[in-house]
Amino acid sequence: MSRLCIHTITTKALSLEACLRVYPRYQVSGITLWESSLAGCQPSRIAGQIQDAGLQVVSLCRGGFFPAVTAGDRQEAINNNLRQIELAYTIGAPMLVLVCGAVPGQRLDDSRCQITDGIAAILPQAQQAGVKLAIEPLHPMYADHRSAINTMRQAHQICDALGSPASLGIAVDVYHVWWDPNLQAEIELAGKLHRLFAFHLCDWLTPTTDLLNDRGLMGEGCIDLSQINVWMEAAGFTGFREVEIFSNRWWSQDPATFLTAIRESYRSLYPSD
Ligand code: ZN
Repeated sequence: MSRLCIHTITTKALSLEACLRVYPRYQVSGITLWESSLAGCQPSRIAGQIQDAGLQVVSLCRGGFFPAVTAGDRQEAINNNLRQIELAYTIGAPMLVLVCGAVPGQRLDDSRCQITDGIAAILPQAQQAGVKLAIEPLHPMYADHRSAINTMRQAHQICDALGSPASLGIAVDVYHVWWDPNLQAEIELAGKLHRLFAFHLCDWLTPTTDLLNDRGLMGEGCIDLSQINVWMEAAGFTGFREVEIFSNRWWSQDPATFLTAIRESYRSLYPSD
């Protein structure tokens, strides 16, 4: 399965070493690293370890969280993102995913300006390091504290405002954007402008019992994944399909059971990969 990638947070009970050992057994080809999975690892050795495992690093999650009340805190956020870019470079990750941030009580428009300014501030170093930045719009239910960027349109606006640099694009996470009536057009435009950087997969459960940790495995929920996939392919996306599932329910299962379910679900969505 040449385009199947898993985010380490999906199997968060496994150490990075265990992920590298186990993922290939389930025909996984790519790995997106969450910083939490790097604890205790020597960053300079990670690229080699991943290569030895026969996996490809897809991206590092995550930078962002630019908005803050004080200028000092906004600078600290920028500094933190610069460290993330350096980390991505060191571990051989070609891309850093940005969860842009928001401050409860702060006007969303102010947060959006701070996000644009923050990305502008880190862009030169990202370009120098050869690390792409992927803005991930988040579902509006997170607009209070996780991200003031809630649609692909808003992500496009940031790319436009910064002069459409080649190293800045969008991470399409079905969980966050599936409801958007303009999704097809936004994906199409992103394809045309070479901004389709990443594709994150899971599903939306009804009822969702936890705002963060109740995502479904693909096929368990109500997202029309086949349709979104057709739009992504039509827009020219040829990258990894990244399984990113935060789920207390799945996390309580044996990781082997979960990985088997992921493989089967992916296989039925993409029988020809
Ligand atoms: Zn995502």
